[in-house]
Amino acid sequence: MRAAYPELATVRKVAGGKPVYLVGGAVRDLLLGRRRTDIDLVVEGDAAALAVRLGADVVEHERFATAKAQLDGHEVDIATARAETYPQPGALPEVEPTAGIAADLARRDFTINAMAIPLLRRDPELIDPHRGREDLEAGLLRVLHSGSFDDDPTRAVRAARYAARFGFELEPETKGLLGQADLSMVSADRRNAELLRLAAEAEALRGFALLTEWGLLKPHENGMELAGRTAGLLSEPPWSRIADRGRAVLAAVLGPWGEAEKLVAAHPGRPSEAVKLARGSAPIELVLARALGAEWLDRYLEEWDAVRLEIDGADLIEAGVSEGPALGRGLAEALRRKLDGEVDGRNEELEVALAAARKPGE
Ligand code: ATP
Repeated sequence: MRAAYPELATVRKVAGGKPVYLVGGAVRDLLLGRRRTDIDLVVEGDAAALAVRLGADVVEHERFATAKAQLDGHEVDIATARAETYPQPGALPEVEPTAGIAADLARRDFTINAMAIPLLRRDPELIDPHRGREDLEAGLLRVLHSGSFDDDPTRAVRAARYAARFGFELEPETKGLLGQADLSMVSADRRNAELLRLAAEAEALRGFALLTEWGLLKPHENGMELAGRTAGLLSEPPWSRIADRGRAVLAAVLGPWGEAEKLVAAHPGRPSEAVKLARGSAPIELVLARALGAEWLDRYLEEWDAVRLEIDGADLIEAGVSEGPALGRGLAEALRRKLDGEVDGRNEELEVALAAARKPGE
């Protein structure tokens, strides 16, 4: 742990005797021997005060008594140990901020995420009241209690995320409970936030496939199925070329898709028409339209978008065309004919461009 997270030495020094724990994904990933992640700490005391002692510009979330700090370039989330109760299914929890670590672990989603390592102990022992380590070794996702998905149905999306990422299975009872999860019980914002995190995973497609298999995605419901197909497209060529903007792209998938629908409805007959329609569309509009069925966009991206003339404006000026709209008109016409396979080579391009540029009155 010390080697993977050297900044924890600083936390230990400034904790002022208040029990502090490494919790959640960082503990899980340490046990899995995976690369380090940003860390989550729980303190049985004031989270903001600890963050200040760590020299952080504290971003405090009053409601949940949490704070963020940067340590050695890594983000550290610090939370006061808390217990949660859910007033009704899918609602935000009521928070009791004076709990100990056991109650804090008991509010978590899966056993593999409900382990802690106490940082003040010289010889820290894993705190694992829900036998997360066993499940981790067996590759199982298991909720902590039978009401878990009722309390927070977004945990079903989290299950898909972990199952896809780690190749884990749902423990049978958890699978039964998950089948009853109702994502419509949570606000669209919360649902979409978890879906976006799934969409940003390397194994996003598998995650969305699992959600479908579990009966949680209904075609065209809330853009979710669309998000799945979009994530799949972005994971392979040619669409992976624009996936570097993946998060932003997928964020927009879950919102309105305006221009994309025009591209879907268009059915261009010729390459030049396809280029006219698609060029100028934002990447999000293109990939959305493709996810909605505009297959012609594959060829646009693979072939037509890259078609360039061998001539340029300077060639037309040299041939006597004056700068201005005629120049653009000539080049546009040559490109159109080249895209449609009607001209070949520099000489033909020049001929077509000059004819179009010299046409009066256009
Ligand atoms: P990742 O590796 O993707 O960052 P993580 O396990 O760190 O995953 P976070 O979403 O950052 O996940 O949450 C941190 C911890 O908070 C989780 O490990 C889990 O214990 C707990 N948690 C997060 N969301 C929920 C939830 N909806 N219900 C219960 N516990 C949750």
